[in-house]
Amino acid sequence: MLNNIKEDLKLFNEIVDNFLEDEKTTPISKSIKIKDLYNKIDLSLSDEPSIQTEFKQTLKKLVLSTPKSSSKMFFNQLFGGRHSKAVLGDLLAVMLNNSMATYKISGPQAAVEKEILSKVCELIKYPKSAGGTFPTGGSMSNFMSLIIARDQKSKDIINKGFKQKFVAYSSEESHYSVAKNASFSGLGKNNVRYIKCNSFGQLDTISLENQIREDITNDCIPFYINATAGTTVLCAFDNIDEISRICKKYSIWLHVDGAFGGSVIFTDKYKDLVKGVEKSDSFCFNAHKTLGVPLSTSILVVRESKMISDSFKNNASYLYQTHDIDYNLGYNSFECGRRNNALKFWTMWKSIGTKGICNIINHEFDLADYARSYTIINKDYTLYSFEKSLSICFNYKNYDPIDLCTKLYEKNKIMVGFGYFRKQCFIRLVTINGENSKSEILEFFKTLEVFCQQYDQDLKKISN
Ligand SMILES: *Cc1c(COP(=O)(O)O)cnc(C)c1O
Repeated sequence: MLNNIKEDLKLFNEIVDNFLEDEKTTPISKSIKIKDLYNKIDLSLSDEPSIQTEFKQTLKKLVLSTPKSSSKMFFNQLFGGRHSKAVLGDLLAVMLNNSMATYKISGPQAAVEKEILSKVCELIKYPKSAGGTFPTGGSMSNFMSLIIARDQKSKDIINKGFKQKFVAYSSEESHYSVAKNASFSGLGKNNVRYIKCNSFGQLDTISLENQIREDITNDCIPFYINATAGTTVLCAFDNIDEISRICKKYSIWLHVDGAFGGSVIFTDKYKDLVKGVEKSDSFCFNAHKTLGVPLSTSILVVRESKMISDSFKNNASYLYQTHDIDYNLGYNSFECGRRNNALKFWTMWKSIGTKGICNIINHEFDLADYARSYTIINKDYTLYSFEKSLSICFNYKNYDPIDLCTKLYEKNKIMVGFGYFRKQCFIRLVTINGENSKSEILEFFKTLEVFCQQYDQDLKKISN
């Protein structure tokens, strides 16, 4: 039978069993050259249905050939690992297939989302009137915050478009979504001021204030500052306290982009990194980075819940037919049909408690300390990043980091990326997989060292 859920769930279990075994013995899937891809796996679609056995074989092959983003040797993105309770929740969300737009279609799932949002608001000490939503990711969280800030500055823009020259501020190390969002919102990419960073990769607040003064003199209207809690490369935390002082002085919206590092709000040991976050107007973090919740789980909270619906609600008689704005979450979202991205975070949080989440984050900082010490003690390494960060940026001997990362991938050893700070290129190891232990971090370095020794002749060197 072609459409049989029970049969297919059996097949699912079978494939996943294979996959989990394979992940242990082969943490890095064999990389496939794009030119060989269509020969290796039959990806073609045709008029006739597949033969069942071939379909199964192809599917298994496809799964086992896909890069393994949850394995112990995966450090290429800011997400990694998987918490089983979060996976459980997400699989159930697929089965339930609700939309989060209205209470009528989501029922208690709406309250699941609301419970997380109110807990997060409580953790960062936002007022009772605060609220939030689950955008499709950090980029979308940043976009929504920009729109809300725009509409809070001027009630007319939502209907008439920009009439005056509005300007937004972000650091040169901030996420690239800020530029895209400026374009989508009608603000324009040229109206984002990229403020330079200090030597730790944090937004330089003196330059920020100077730029704001200059813009005001030139009849521009400063309305939005994007501060970053955990920059994408160095995992640097901007000084929110100081930036919030400037925001107050010039009546500018303060958004804290914590997509990477914002989950420090769960731990007393590190939450000082976002000191002053309670004074921000909006804040977001990605539970799919650092917490092992599947992609994508982004949480945006705003100081006043009403401000979100002010910007995002629209009448739709075919959609909103029962209940009110409090539980019809579509009034707060960009999408119409919206996937349930809350349940997976809720199942995890419910099962391990806030303490469990705190332990995950603390553990990842411990792993970072361990990796950093390793590169400090071992004279063959040069370290470029700083303490209290989940990002360990380094170079090994005089190996070219770009070439080394690429060959480690091509030879199926490690997936890790490179980054830049102030034109310096380096390898970026991120300790964002809470399932890893120190022995896996050590294995990372040992694998890299053995690899360099083995392929020394083939590897590019940098001249100092
Ligand atoms: C990853 C990241 C984003 C984007 O989040 P997505 O969910 O990938 O859209 C935004 N800001 C920072 C600082 C990030 O690290």
